[in-house]
Amino acid sequence: MALPTGEIVARPMVARACGCLNEFQHYSVDKYRTQRLAKFQSTRCAACVAKSEEAIRAAAAALPGKGEAIQALPIGCQIALARRADGKWTGTLTADGTTVETIADWPQGLSGMLARLWVSARGGKLPESGDVKAPVEVAPKPAAASSAKPPAGGVKSSTGAARPPASGGVKPPAGK
Ligand SMILES: [Zn+2]
Repeated sequence: MALPTGEIVARPMVARACGCLNEFQHYSVDKYRTQRLAKFQSTRCAACVAKSEEAIRAAAAALPGKGEAIQALPIGCQIALARRADGKWTGTLTADGTTVETIADWPQGLSGMLARLWVSARGGKLPESGDVKAPVEVAPKPAAASSAKPPAGGVKSSTGAARPPASGGVKPPAGK
């Protein structure tokens, strides 16, 4: 995309993806103004990007260290990794009745992150027990609830029969 040149002829305030208004500069020569504007509108402002990066850093720092967390895992702890239809990796760790899940682009770091999430879910060793959330999807659930799921498409009394597929969701294994 060629850089715009010439004078700035207008400076309208345009809403970014985060909802903040930022000045969008119209140059006198700008072949790609429409594309630049579309990108401007579909991205967040610098302040919001910095803020969320800081929040992610703080949340990651609040989790116990990887080595420490892995050491804390009890005997019988189980970790499962699986690759999803969208190519991402999902990991599940179950120990002492607590299950945590997370998703990553690569499988290498998953077990360490799962261990950290597990220790965190158990309320262990958090430097601050404030409202800091982990930057990844966490789904702690009691092991009791994991007993014998009915197969997809089976008879259910609930209304959850026709569930639309979540974007990038995992396909249920075909029960052949
Ligand atoms: Zn913003």
